[in-house]
Amino acid sequence: MLFDDPDFEETIASVLVPVAVPVAYTYKVPPGKTVVPGTIVKVPLGPREVIGAVWDGEPDAAINPKKLKSITRVYDTTLPLDEDLRRFVDWVANWTLGAPGMVLRMVLRSEEALEPEAPVPGVRRIEGAEPDRQTAARRRVLGTMEDGFAWTKSGLAHAAGVSPSVIDGLIQQNVLEVVSMPAAPPPPRPQLDFAQKALTPAQTAAAEGLIASFDKGAGVSLIDGVTGSGKTEVYFEAIAEAIRRDRQALVLLPEIALTEQFLRRFEQRFGVYPAEWHSEITPKNRARVWRGVASGDIRVVIGARSSLFLPFRELGLIIVDEEHDAAFKQDDRVPYSARDMAVVRGHISGFPVVLASATPSVESRVNADSGRYTLYDLPERASGAALPDLKAIDMRLDGPERGKWLAPQLVHAIKDTFAAGDQSLLFLNRRGYAPLTLCRTCGHRFQCAHCSAWLVEHRFQKKLVCHHCGHTEPVPQSCPSCGQTDSLVACGPGVERIAEEVSDLFPQARTLVLSSDLAGGPERLKREMKLVEEGEADIVIGTQLVAKGHNFPKMKLVGVIDADLGLAHGDPRAAEKTFQLLAQVTGRAGRMTGGGVGLLQTYNAEHPVIKALYGGDKAAFYQAEIESRRVSGLPPFGRLAAIVISGPDKAFAEGYARALACAAPPDEAVGLLGPAEAALAMVRGRHRYRLLTMAPRQFDLQSYLRRWLASGPKPTRGLRVQVDIDPQHFL
Ligand code: ADP
Ligand code: ZN
Repeated sequence: MLFDDPDFEETIASVLVPVAVPVAYTYKVPPGKTVVPGTIVKVPLGPREVIGAVWDGEPDAAINPKKLKSITRVYDTTLPLDEDLRRFVDWVANWTLGAPGMVLRMVLRSEEALEPEAPVPGVRRIEGAEPDRQTAARRRVLGTMEDGFAWTKSGLAHAAGVSPSVIDGLIQQNVLEVVSMPAAPPPPRPQLDFAQKALTPAQTAAAEGLIASFDKGAGVSLIDGVTGSGKTEVYFEAIAEAIRRDRQALVLLPEIALTEQFLRRFEQRFGVYPAEWHSEITPKNRARVWRGVASGDIRVVIGARSSLFLPFRELGLIIVDEEHDAAFKQDDRVPYSARDMAVVRGHISGFPVVLASATPSVESRVNADSGRYTLYDLPERASGAALPDLKAIDMRLDGPERGKWLAPQLVHAIKDTFAAGDQSLLFLNRRGYAPLTLCRTCGHRFQCAHCSAWLVEHRFQKKLVCHHCGHTEPVPQSCPSCGQTDSLVACGPGVERIAEEVSDLFPQARTLVLSSDLAGGPERLKREMKLVEEGEADIVIGTQLVAKGHNFPKMKLVGVIDADLGLAHGDPRAAEKTFQLLAQVTGRAGRMTGGGVGLLQTYNAEHPVIKALYGGDKAAFYQAEIESRRVSGLPPFGRLAAIVISGPDKAFAEGYARALACAAPPDEAVGLLGPAEAALAMVRGRHRYRLLTMAPRQFDLQSYLRRWLASGPKPTRGLRVQVDIDPQHFL
C-alpha cells in the first residue's frame, strides 16, 4: 500500500514475489519513490533479486523495520498491473490452490519488457543541404529519402542499392544527420472495413448476437458450428466490435501450428497482422508484445493459453477457438484451464467471452442447454458443401494383411482420390515409427530408464525416444539383453511407419508426414502446412496436429488409422475426447467443395462413439454422454480434483500417499479414490501416486482440500504434492 504521509520516515509495501509462498512479503520503499498496487519492482529474495509486483492488502507493520529489506528498483509506473489483472491473479491462485506468486510469474514472463527498448540510430536529410558533388549513388540515396522520414543506415543502403560508405560520405558532408529512432514503430491498427465477407444468414444472426452481447457486459456465448461453417468469420465481427468500442481483443488457439493460417485470414479481413504470443516468438518480440498490450498500441493478440496473463490495458473480448481442446489445460506448475479462466477474466472485467467449436466440450454444451451460455448454432458449411460421408471399416472383417496397417478399402479410396488429383489425409495419433521395439529372440522390450514408458523408435532420426522425458538413445545393432544381432522388431504403427507403407503403395505420390517432433521445428511445420493448403502434397500422414481447425481446400479423403486408440483410456472423458478428435479430423475432408469422405478403421464398429460418428448423430451422442455424466456424478454434474504425489523413493511416496489419504477430513459429500499408482507410474525418475476426490457440483472442494492439506502430513524427502482441480488428463 501507499504511505504518502510525509511524517512517515520509512514507507513499506506488500510485494508479491514469484515463488510458491501463500502470501505477499513486506519490503521497504526506497526514499523518494512512490509505489501503488500493481507497480512492478525488483526486490532481494534470499541470495538473489527477483521481479515482483506491489500487491493489495496491508503490509505487515509488525515486522521490525530493521529486518526489512528494501525494494531495489521501481519500474516505469505508467504501466502498473491494473486492478482487474490483480484480482484475476488472486482468483486463479485461489481456484487452483496455487501460490499467487506463481500465477504472477505468468504475468511477468518477459523481464526484457520492463525496460523500454533502446532507440536505434537512424539518418535524416538536413533540409536544403546538398552534397558538393552529385553521383548516381548519392542521387539514389536522396531520391529514396524524398518522403522526409528517418531511415536506419542499413535499411537506406538496401533500399537505395548503395554501399553504406555512400551514406557515411553524405553524413560527413552534413547532408544527412544522425538521429535516434524508436526501435519499433507502433503497429498499424486493424481496419474494420478492410474486406468484410458477405455472411450467410446463420453467420449474420450469430454475428449480430455477439455484437449485441457487448451491451450486456460479462456473458459467455458458444458458437457450435460444424467444421467449415465459418465460425472464424463470425467471431471476426465480434473482434471488429471490440475495436470499435476502443477495446482490445484476445483470441486463444490451442495449437501454435494453427497460428500461421489464422494470421493470414486476419490480415485478409482487417488488412494488418495481429500480434502473436506463444512459446516460439523471440524474446525481443515477446517484450514488444507485452509492452504493446500494456500501452494499448496493440489491439488484437492471437495466442496460446499463457496470453491470458498479458497485462492488457483495456481488454474487452476473449475468443476461445476450439474450446473443447485439452491443450487449453496446463498441467504443470499452476494447473489451470485457459478456457475456464478466460470466462473468469471476462467476468471480473465485465466483457463478453466467446467459445467456438465444431465439437463443444460437454461442460459448455450443458451450460448452453441450461441457458447460462448463449448458443449460436451453425449447422451448415459456409461454402454450402456437404459434410463428409463417414464410414467405418471393420478391421475384423476387412482388415489388412499381417504387418500392414491400411485396409484394402482405404487403399482403394486413396488411389481414387490421388487419381482425381485430390488430397488424402491419414490420421494416426502416434509419433515416430513404432510405439514399441522388442527383441524377437529374448523378448526384451526397450523401456525408458527414467519413466514407465516404452521407448518409441523414430526412424528418421535413427533414435529411440521417450515421449515423456525426452530421453533418447541410438537404436542398437544388437539386443542389449541377449546380444543377438538383427533381432529387433518394431511393434505397432506410428506415423513414420504409415508413411513407409504409403510410399510403397504410391511411389508416384507426394507424401508428407506432419508431426510436431520432426527436425526443423515449428518453422518447417509452418511451411509444410502451407504446402498442404496449396495442394502441393497428395497424401498427408499426420498426428493430432492436423486435426485442429485447418482449412485444406483440396483435402477430400480422411482415413483414421486407429479409431479405437483413445477409447481404452481410464479417463472419464475418453468417449468425449475421441468423438471430438475424430469428428474434427474427418471434418478436414471436402470443406470447400463437398464430396468429402471419412473412413474409420476400427475393431469396435458397434461402440457408441464410432456409431455416432458414422451415423452422423452428434446430438444423440451429446445427449447420451451428458446423461451418463449426470448419472455418475461426473463433471459438470460433479466436481473432481486429483492429488498427485511424486517422489524419488517409491515406498516412501506410496506410504506418504496412504497417510495423506487417511488424513482426509471426513465428509459424507466427498468421495475418495486411491491412492493408486498412476498410469504413468514413473516420470523422470519420480514415482507417482494419485488420489482422486469427487464431490457434488455445489460443494466447495477448494476449501475442503485446503483444510485437508493443512492438517495432513507434510511432504518431506523430495516429495511433491500437486493438486489438479478438474483434471483433464489422468496419467
Ligand atoms: P470454421 O472455423 O467454422 O471451421 P471457417 O471460418 O474456417 O470455418 O470457414 C471455412 C471456410 O469458409 C473458409 O475458407 C472461409 O473463408 C469460408 N467462409 C466462411 N464464411 C464465408 C462466407 N460467408 N462466404 C464465403 N466464404 C466463407
Ligand atoms: Zn523417459
